Amino acid sequence: MDNCLFCKIARGDIPSRKAYEDELVLAFHDINPARPMHLLVIPKRHITSLQTVSQDDEAVLGRMLSVANQLAEENGSPDGFRVIINNGRVGGQEVPHLHAHVVGGPDPVGPMLKRN
Ligand code: 5GP
Ligand code: ZN
Repeated sequence: MDNCLFCKIARGDIPSRKAYEDELVLAFHDINPARPMHLLVIPKRHITSLQTVSQDDEAVLGRMLSVANQLAEENGSPDGFRVIINNGRVGGQEVPHLHAHVVGGPDPVGPMLKRN
């Protein structure tokens, strides 16, 4: 995906503050953090959202979650964290390359969602 922002970050064409990398995923600090720790974990290979995944993506999807606790412990959120994945229009996804927000810090993140 030539023109995808997070593919460019995965390729290193756009700089990011890297927190973790392996053969499947890259984690980097969100440019506009909502909590003291706010990381994004992305598949290196382009996946648009959970709306477009298949069973072939299960390894990378599992890795996105299985690295979260280590990331939290290493980045100032040792006592828990929250993972958020926004998908599509209804989910409020702004960047159309799948990403898990891993948010936390020393203090509780707060209520899950405001009830309508
Ligand atoms: P979404 O709303 O798609 O779930 O979240 C997109 C996230 O990407 C936002 O939290 C936003 O701050 C972050 N973001 C957007 N552009 C960049 C960028 O160029 N670099 C980094 N590190 N984060 C970005
Ligand atoms: Zn992409």
